[in-house]
Amino acid sequence: MKYIGAHVSASGGVENAPLNAHRIGATAFALFTKNQKQWSAPPLTDQSIEKFKNYCKEFDFKPFQVLPHDSYLINLGHPQPEGLAKSRLAFVDEMQRCQQLGLDRLNFHPGSHLKEISEEDSLKRIAESINIALSETEGVTAVLENTAGQGTNLGYRFEHLKQIIDWVDDKSRVGVCIDTCHAFTSGYDIRTRDGFEETFRQFDAIIGFKYLKGLHLNDSKKDLATRVDRHDSLGVGFIGIDLFSFIMADPRFNNMPLILETPVEEKWPEEIQMLKAMAR
Ligand code: MN
Ligand code: MN
Ligand code: ZN
Repeated sequence: MKYIGAHVSASGGVENAPLNAHRIGATAFALFTKNQKQWSAPPLTDQSIEKFKNYCKEFDFKPFQVLPHDSYLINLGHPQPEGLAKSRLAFVDEMQRCQQLGLDRLNFHPGSHLKEISEEDSLKRIAESINIALSETEGVTAVLENTAGQGTNLGYRFEHLKQIIDWVDDKSRVGVCIDTCHAFTSGYDIRTRDGFEETFRQFDAIIGFKYLKGLHLNDSKKDLATRVDRHDSLGVGFIGIDLFSFIMADPRFNNMPLILETPVEEKWPEEIQMLKAMAR
């Protein structure tokens, strides 16, 4: 079964996310559990948590259909002690929020070396950050997202994600989310059937499908291997529509959240309907 949705607004309270997802015909959704542009946020209230859980029950969103995303400020591979400590504290808070909401995974961008330390040293810090967060929480899997490799962001090669996983102690609570736009602009040519098969053959050989906990379904405003992160609506960017029909027909992507982060929210209902039709 395919579960398809979008990264919906949680403005006014996390409980609005399942409501907004249901309204657009989604069977999966992503959300920020706090303002993604600020370091700290008030704790979730008991009332908000209860409403969130009730709406998820009412609209039939189970934990495996929900992919929360952390704040963009967090850098778990930060070269400086203060920046690293601040990021680790904020990440534990994000994991705890997911735990409070009864959710089982948190999606995040691995981190950036900021040209101050080597890629390897930054990857080590990311793994250690995950180890710390896992030891302070229960039941939530840390889900690494592949990146476009913009600036000094790590995670633009499957080998980076594999290296981080190797250094994580509890492999049962680490996973991966593949963003199609990021994969394409980082250099994986997934436009054609052959390119799609080859990319996910590599993914399976290097990381393994058992670690896949979700997908971000985005077309790209930038061309192959440009290492720029600009999402586009499905079928109108440089990737084109074929990739999304390959994914929808492929059982390896069953039973996980498949999330649109496409820029035109008004198109989400039709994008979801189109994907659902491709999956039939
Ligand atoms: Mn992301
Ligand atoms: Mn993404
Ligand atoms: Zn992106």
